[in-house]
Amino acid sequence: TPIIFLTAETADHIDLAAMHAGALDYLVKGEITPRMVERSLRYALKLADTLEALRRLATRDELTGLLNRRELDRVLAEECERDLRFGHEFALIMLDIDHFKSINDRHGHPAGDAVLKEVASTIKRRIRKEDVLARFGGEEFAVLTPEIDLKGATAMAQKVRKVIEKHEFSFDGETIPVTISCGVATLGKKGDDAQALLSRADEKLYEAKEGGRNQVC
Ligand code: GH3
Ligand code: MG
Ligand code: MG
Repeated sequence: TPIIFLTAETADHIDLAAMHAGALDYLVKGEITPRMVERSLRYALKLADTLEALRRLATRDELTGLLNRRELDRVLAEECERDLRFGHEFALIMLDIDHFKSINDRHGHPAGDAVLKEVASTIKRRIRKEDVLARFGGEEFAVLTPEIDLKGATAMAQKVRKVIEKHEFSFDGETIPVTISCGVATLGKKGDDAQALLSRADEKLYEAKEGGRNQVC
C-alpha cells in the first residue's frame, strides 16, 4: 500500500523520517492544493507499481515464479536468526530432479522447461502455506519448513516425492517419467548457520542420489 504523509509539521527532519519509514510523499497542510494532492496520489500509485515490479524481478525466478536463490538465502538467514533467539525449529528440504539432463536430451529443452514448471507447481500444492518454496538452481528446489522437526519434514518430503512419482508429466503428447531425490536437515545445535544447514541438506541429497535416486534421506 503506497503511503503519503499529510501533516501540519514543516520540519525537514519529519519529512526525512517519513521517507525513511517508507512514505512515498510528504504533504504539508496549508501548502497543498487539490491539484497537488491528485498529482501526489498518481505518482505514489505509479511508483508503488514500479517498486513492486522491481521487487518481483529481484526475488523471483522467471520460469517457475518461485522465490529465487537470493531470496531463499535472505529468508534462511532470517529463520536461523529467529531460531537462535526464540528457539523456533525449522527444517530444510533440498529436492533435485533425477536424471534431468536426459529429459532435456530426449525430449528437448522446452519439454525440460515445462517439467520444471510443473514440478514447481506440484510441490507448491503439496506443502503448507507457511512453507517457503524456492528454485535453488537449475533443476533443484528447496523447501524451508518452519515449526517442524526432522521427522515431520522427512514425512513431508516423502509425500512430495510420491506425488511427483505418480504425477503424469507429458509434453507434445509424449509421457515423461519424472522422479526426485530429497535431502532433509534441521538446524543442529545453537549457533548453526544457514551455510551449515545447506551443506547438511546437500550431503543428504547426495546420499539419496548415491542410494539409487527417487528417495528421501
Ligand atoms: P542427477 O540425477 O544426478 O541429479 O542428474 P541430472 O541429470 O538431473 O543432473 P545434472 O546436474 O547432470 O544436469 C542438470 C541439467 O539441468 C543440466 C542443465 O542443462 C539442466 N537445466 C538447468 N537449468 C535448466 C532450465 O532452466 N531449463 C532446462 N530445460 N534445463 C535446465
Ligand atoms: Mg538432477
Ligand atoms: Mg542438480
